[in-house]
Amino acid sequence: MTKPYYPYSQYLKEKFGCKVYKVTLDAGFTCPNRDGVKGKGGCTFCDQTGSSSRAQDRRDSITEQIHKNIERQRKRFGAEKFIAYFQSFTNTYSPVERLKSLYDEAMAAHPDIIGMSISTRPDCVDEEILALIASYQTPDNYICVEYGMQTIHDRTLDLLNRCETHHEFLEAFELTQKYNLDHCIHVILDLPGESWEDQMETADVLAKLKVNGVKIHLLCAMEKTPLAEQYLRGEWQPLDKENYVQLICDFMERLHPETVIHRVAGNGHHQHVVAPLWLQRKMEIMNEIDAEFDRRGTRQGDKCRFMGENSARTEETAGVF
Ligand code: SF4
Repeated sequence: MTKPYYPYSQYLKEKFGCKVYKVTLDAGFTCPNRDGVKGKGGCTFCDQTGSSSRAQDRRDSITEQIHKNIERQRKRFGAEKFIAYFQSFTNTYSPVERLKSLYDEAMAAHPDIIGMSISTRPDCVDEEILALIASYQTPDNYICVEYGMQTIHDRTLDLLNRCETHHEFLEAFELTQKYNLDHCIHVILDLPGESWEDQMETADVLAKLKVNGVKIHLLCAMEKTPLAEQYLRGEWQPLDKENYVQLICDFMERLHPETVIHRVAGNGHHQHVVAPLWLQRKMEIMNEIDAEFDRRGTRQGDKCRFMGENSARTEETAGVF
């Protein structure tokens, strides 16, 4: 059945013609928002593993992690090809020589690795790093950079202890376009203090930029995080499922129809989620999103305000709202 949005699984199938899965890696990075360079304690929602690949043992080499993970994904999903996914913490936060050595190892680790996806903070890339990442792009190698943007609103980023600004995201995005790198932008819905209109503004900026991909998260409390403590003290309540379904449909209606949706539900580490627990019922949520689009008679992009425009220059976009 055709989805009312453009799912990542469809994008991969169209691109590679076979079942492709990401294999998550923990390369032992840290984050400037944890080691004191930009902040301490991390973002309020980030757990001790850097929002990440808990399944991995960071004592294993990249090659060992890739081999173990490929075996698992083959058995579980019948996956045929694999993308090495540098997921934990900030995967560009090291000298370029070390980055090169880790990325080289990942690309050479297994014959069924067809590329890399590298997750990072927008303020942790520069010309040299993106040039290195772009150097792995060939007709046979797929390379993607994933940025944790979360929201376009700086006041929310402050509340999250993010220690970066939306302007820094726009600068990283412009450089990423310069190197013609595929990209996926992470956003979080139901962030503290954000109205429906605030969240729709974030969707509109992503539509205006015509970003390649978006991974949509709902704010959730993982164990041992400041957010979980707030929840246990009764200071924060997660959104309920019905309202989330409404909100994410509203959000996707405003995105560009060609933007790939990397995720709409679930969390890779469900055993460590404190709240909301319903978030783990991934299939049920996905079915309810489909049903809601069906009830509305709409799909992704139906309320996009920027149809027909090319990917905009970021300084123009910054002044739109
Ligand atoms: S930037 Fe990422 S890794 Fe660093 S504290 Fe925030 S969520 Fe965690």
